[in-house]
Amino acid sequence: MNILLMGPPGAGKGTQAAELVKEFRIPHISTGDMFRAAVKEGTPLGKQAKACMDEGKLVPDEVTIGIVRERLAKDDCKNGFILDGFPRTVEQADALGTILKDLGLPAAKAIHINVPKGDLIARAVGRRICKSCGATYHTKFNPPKTEGKCDECGGELFQRADDTAETMEKRLSVYEASTKPLIDYYEKAGAYVAVDGRQAIDKVTKDLIATLKAK
Ligand code: ADP
Ligand code: AMP
Repeated sequence: MNILLMGPPGAGKGTQAAELVKEFRIPHISTGDMFRAAVKEGTPLGKQAKACMDEGKLVPDEVTIGIVRERLAKDDCKNGFILDGFPRTVEQADALGTILKDLGLPAAKAIHINVPKGDLIARAVGRRICKSCGATYHTKFNPPKTEGKCDECGGELFQRADDTAETMEKRLSVYEASTKPLIDYYEKAGAYVAVDGRQAIDKVTKDLIATLKAK
């Protein structure tokens, strides 16, 4: 199953992808995670990505499409994958169609996590991530058992540099202008379905799994 997990920043894509990995045993591919790994390594890609991410802008399409093309060509994607945070522009969506065709992989289904704009800043500002295993928490909505420590592995939790109210405003306006048109794009292709992301995390997971299994 090739899944595109879509939705605005802070909708719960990373949180839900972790659950879908357990259910479907296919890799979770997050372009945001790939860029953050490159930033940490200090590679040329990381330097270019950091400049965009710090300002809440998108990394240029040709760069992003290139890393996704390389990743989807790996063997572990043959039986399916969950793409999180890609595509984010119509150009990326067109490129994805071409990449899948070139690789002989089936077209992907887009599943959108709907969350109203008013909830998203609070979700992002309270987001905390484990430095060791990448598990996602929220200071209020999904707190770890011990403050600052990961329940899964005991790792230290950190806050993303771009999870400020100011950068979120910018990321949300970029989402409205560049990414939201993809709802129409995948609806027209008959490959779109939405779930209500305002519900509790486990309820959203149940809905996602039921929707994906029904397809
Ligand atoms: P995205 O990957 O879409 O940017 P995340 O999965 O990182 O979003 O979630 C953003 C923040 O919102 C995290 O702190 C997460 O714990 C929290 N969160 C995710 N889903 C829900 C939910 N259904 N209700 C409340 N908070 C949630
Ligand atoms: P995310 O982790 O999905 O919230 O992404 C964090 C940041 O990484 C975004 O604000 C962008 O700067 C960059 N990014 C992630 N995915 C993409 C993409 N598909 N296209 C362009 N930039 C991206």
